[in-house]
Order: sequence, then structure tokens, then C-alpha cells
Amino acid sequence: MNTNKAALAEYIINEDELMEDAIDFSNENGDFNKLNNYYDNISSGKCNGCGKCCYESVQTNFIEFLNIINFLKNDPSLLEDILNQVEHYYMHDLFQNNTCPMLDNNNRCKIYSVRPLVCRLFGHYSQEDHEKNYLETLENNKVIKDYYIDNYDLDIPDERLLKKVEHCSDYENNMKVSTELMTQIKDDILMIDSKYFAEGFIDENAYNMGLVEWFIYLFFDESLAEKRINFSKLKLSENLK
Ligand code: SF4
Ligand code: SF4
Repeated sequence: MNTNKAALAEYIINEDELMEDAIDFSNENGDFNKLNNYYDNISSGKCNGCGKCCYESVQTNFIEFLNIINFLKNDPSLLEDILNQVEHYYMHDLFQNNTCPMLDNNNRCKIYSVRPLVCRLFGHYSQEDHEKNYLETLENNKVIKDYYIDNYDLDIPDERLLKKVEHCSDYENNMKVSTELMTQIKDDILMIDSKYFAEGFIDENAYNMGLVEWFIYLFFDESLAEKRINFSKLKLSENLK
């Protein structure tokens, strides 16, 4: 693992060929522009900035992640800070609830202008769709819980898996995005991603990942996964004492 995040940020900005090639590919194909045009369909509305919806590593498509890296390439110290926060989130994710590592101490998003689709849509969900999303998350979490028990003898606490953020009723917008348009935009962005799969920039293991997981998957040493398991077991056993 590269523990020096300043050096890792420097590497990502100046030497990571995969990122460089993927960003060039995106520019040649106008993919960042397409992504931003899709985002433009979602009006911002009035948000009180409470930050309650910024409670996890949000689902992010590859082109969205690339857009974020392209943005962070202009700000090495912000990238270094985010790499530190990402690692902290990842190491604690299996045993305690955490906020999104992109959130600053004043509940502001550090990457607001390039935040993923999921963040842009949060206030647009109806109560019904919000509950549906939560039930889907619960189902996924059950699969994750079983996976860690079966493979690592690690029992993720229920309060971590059941965490629920209430539907946002404080967000004001008289131009809310319909469920149909949400589905359309998600599909359109997935279509962009499919080119990057086809070109070999990403493989099938990298499907449907969270923002933190993209950073870990692409930039951190594989040994961090095992360190996380051991660290989580230690912390969980300490809590039982
Ligand atoms: S969208 Fe809602 S929950 Fe999220 S910050 Fe705005 S007011 Fe808070
Ligand atoms: S990326 Fe930004 S807007 Fe999205 S959850 Fe994280 S802090 Fe919130």
C-alpha cells in the first residue's frame, strides 16, 4: 500500500496511464460533455445543506468516477485529502456507520460540481421510491453480511447494515425529476460506461461500485482488503469486551 498519500496523488495526476488513457478517450468521444448534459436535466432546487443524505459511499458509474478524477487532477492537495478520507472510510466500513468521505466538516461536498448522479437525485425521490430503494439496499446488505460470515468469519453488526436515512422532505423543487426520467438518465450513463468495459479500461468485477470502492480498486494495494478484515475483527472483538 502506498501510505504516502501526497505521493499517491502525484502518481494519479502525473503517471497513472490507465487514468490518462481513459480521460483522453473520454475527451475524444465527448463523454464528459454527454455526462454533464445528462446532469443538466436535474435541476438543483433549494436544499438546506443538512448533509443527512451524504451518509455512505454512493454508487458511482465509471464515467462519473473519471469525471471526478479529471476534476481532482487540478487540485493535488484536495486529492491527497480525499485519499486519506477514503482509506479511513474503507477501513471502518465493516463495523461502523460513516459519512461520505467527500463531506467536509461544514457538511459541504468537496467535489460538489462533479458529484455523482445519485447525489443529484436524492431530494427528487418520492417517499415511495425512497422506501423501495431502502428495501433493495437491505437485500444487498444481507448478501454482503452472509458473504463476510462465510468467507471471513466476520459478522457485520446489524446497526451497520440496517442504517436508514429518512426521506428528505426539506428539499424544495417545483421541477422534480420523474421516476421515468431518472431511469432514462441512469441507463444513458450506463451506456457510456459500456464503452469503457468494451475498450478494456475496466473489467466485469468493477460493476456497480461505490465511490470509495473505485478509489480502493484502482489506486490502493490489494493487501488493504486483508488488513481491513483483520482491523474490523479486532475492533469488533474490542467492542464485545
Ligand atoms: S437533499 Fe435533503 S437531506 Fe440532502 S442535504 Fe439537502 S435537505 Fe439535507
Ligand atoms: S459525493 Fe458529495 S454530495 Fe455525494 S454523498 Fe458524498 S458528500 Fe454528499
